[in-house]
Amino acid sequence: MHLSRVEMTGFKSFADKTVIEFDQGMTAVVGPNGSGKSNLSEAIRWVLGEQSAKSLRGSKMEDVIFNGTQDRKAVNIAKVTLVLNNEDHYLDSDYSEIAIARSYNRNGDSSYTINNETVRLKDIVDLLLDSGLGKNSFSIISQGQVEQIFLNKPEERRTIFEEAAGVQKYQYRKNEAERKLTKSQDNLNRVKDIIHELK
Ligand code: ATP
Repeated sequence: MHLSRVEMTGFKSFADKTVIEFDQGMTAVVGPNGSGKSNLSEAIRWVLGEQSAKSLRGSKMEDVIFNGTQDRKAVNIAKVTLVLNNEDHYLDSDYSEIAIARSYNRNGDSSYTINNETVRLKDIVDLLLDSGLGKNSFSIISQGQVEQIFLNKPEERRTIFEEAAGVQKYQYRKNEAERKLTKSQDNLNRVKDIIHELK
């Protein structure tokens, strides 16, 4: 499995549809300051579910939408699609090409799709779980992150090893199970209350 293409429309500085193809092996993205190199890596993280506008160098999610320049009007929708080559079926899917997309409208409408079918973010997270690809995985290392690893507290550094060792998947599933358990306990308490009232 590898990332074969990124398509961006209306995302940050990419007002027009911009398609970037990645071959297998190493790809270097080079360009002058301010030409959009970081915007490209942010586009990838955004599709993978990044919810923090701050970590996308904005103050609100709307800041990911192209906001115009002196000679170009702002647009209303940002859309980014990641196309993954899954010919080796590394990801648990029958498809040999998987297109994961996220879009966001200024009116607040937001959607995620996998191969053009609307999904929840959870479906994307589940699909990529344990693949090494994810918004917080170490397949994307941003500027300053290497230094941060050395400055981290030991517990924070442990999560890095957990991610690399595939333990995070179990942590994620444990959290999910605990959340469901709490919800079921709440429902049970409500039923007990009703039974008590009826007695
Ligand atoms: P450097 O080499 O300095 O790190 P870079 O190639 O990584 O630069 P980016 O930081 O990706 O460049 O791009 C910054 C550019 O993106 C700036 O010119 C900024 O104005 C533009 N930009 C960011 N958000 C938006 C937006 N919402 N609409 C339009 N342009 C935007």
